[in-house]
Amino acid sequence: ITATTLHIPFDNSYARLPETFFAPAQPTPVSAPRLVKLNTALAEELGLDPVALATDEAAAMFAGVRVPEGAEPIALAYAGHQFGQFTPQLGDGRAILLGEVIDRAGRRRDIQLKGSGPTLFSRRGDGRAAIGPVLREYLVSEAMAALGVPTTRTLAAVTTGDPVWRERALPGGVLARVASSHIRIGTFQFFAARKDTEGLRALADYTIARHYPELIGAAHPYAALLEAVMERQAALVARWQLIGFIHGVMNTDNMSVAGETIDYGPCAFMDAYHPSTVFSSIDYMGRYAYKNQPQIAHWNLARLAECLIPLLHAEREPAVEEANALLGTFPKRFEAAYHAGLTAKIGLPGGAATDVALALELLQVMQAQKADFTLTFRGLAAAAESPDGLTGVRDLFLDRDAFDAFATRWRARLAETGHAGAAIRAGMERVNPKFIPRNHQVEWALDAATEQGDYAPFEELLGVIQHPFDEQPRFAAYAGLPPEMKDYQTFCGT
Ligand code: AMP
Ligand code: MG
Ligand code: MG
Repeated sequence: ITATTLHIPFDNSYARLPETFFAPAQPTPVSAPRLVKLNTALAEELGLDPVALATDEAAAMFAGVRVPEGAEPIALAYAGHQFGQFTPQLGDGRAILLGEVIDRAGRRRDIQLKGSGPTLFSRRGDGRAAIGPVLREYLVSEAMAALGVPTTRTLAAVTTGDPVWRERALPGGVLARVASSHIRIGTFQFFAARKDTEGLRALADYTIARHYPELIGAAHPYAALLEAVMERQAALVARWQLIGFIHGVMNTDNMSVAGETIDYGPCAFMDAYHPSTVFSSIDYMGRYAYKNQPQIAHWNLARLAECLIPLLHAEREPAVEEANALLGTFPKRFEAAYHAGLTAKIGLPGGAATDVALALELLQVMQAQKADFTLTFRGLAAAAESPDGLTGVRDLFLDRDAFDAFATRWRARLAETGHAGAAIRAGMERVNPKFIPRNHQVEWALDAATEQGDYAPFEELLGVIQHPFDEQPRFAAYAGLPPEMKDYQTFCGT
């Protein structure tokens, strides 16, 4: 009907899998779709026309009013351990996969609508999302991408014109999410719980073909798959630890086997460094606290290994012993990634044991002094260049003596390397961000957008966090000491 050419070249491989893998699903129309933000750069990366995606026709698509040609909307089946409790059927309760496209780099990417209405898997939920959490996912997922952390992305956010009912009526929204895939540990658990070994094998083969093609034809492909997923998740969680990111809901259904960060619900960045930090309002026991993230990833991978046992049996015996031996390598894999990153943060890349000890000593001082995680490491970069640079970072510590004791030994160690201060600083500024989506900034931007319809703060914050390592002197205020947010809480499904 219109002159625009909204053409998306879908190629839907997941919809070609056996029908046990998903349930057909249609988005439920909404009253008044309005595009509030399009990720133009991501659209281009996907090989889509950003102009066509900014039309009313596209807003209708993103809101689920109009299903584009070539889409085969489905809700994916999965199971999962939520806070340690197994549920044999969860599935996409408020998300619908439109289909897949091959991006400009030749990678297959899912395009999914989140908040587009109920599916077969919705249980008591309404299948909807409020625009606030949609914008929050937009900000945090795009910040993660800019920080270089593997993550799902956000292609667009729309408002629906309809309220969603939570404790009160909130304006509804839909997020268009892009992911390498939506295969989770919980997807494997879905088939394992049904003792559907053929489904499990089909899923494992599909996962290998899509995410680990180098394993095709390996002598023991399923063992190799477990090992490869472990390696990616170890690297991923190490990245989280190194930027102070707390996922908040590391249930097995929220862990992607592609090794991407997925499910931005109650996640948040830590301001003052403390290993026990928890933000999620429902994480009463601190199961998903910052310091627990590596062990939880390990625990989740053990659940994946259990699922794979029938396939491993067919491959080689003794399968259980083999799975256990593989799982036992997780701490070392995590440590290798974490230690390399940690020493790079203090300008001593390489992960040497004495440098790791030095970095851990700094973390101890930061914890005792409640020093800001991001500002401390960024501040240290200036201190690496010259002793004058020390004052800024030193001011973050109440007990200056404790910091000075560390700083003296640290600067002596830097001098030993023989590298120029300016080069060390530049290296540190490439790994220690100046800008992260601070909790108070995110809340402020969401308030303006959802309460006043003012998207300017959201736009500005998004622009800033898309360049986390740049100085951006105009936006220095975003890199100030954050206000203390006592008892700050985040929420899952609003
Ligand atoms: P999450 O905590 O985001 O991982 O969600 C856990 C499960 O609850 C998933 O199966 C979701 O699809 C489902 N879910 C969350 N919110 C809703 C909602 N508003 N309506 C229907 N299902 C939902
Ligand atoms: Mg989830
Ligand atoms: Mg969620």
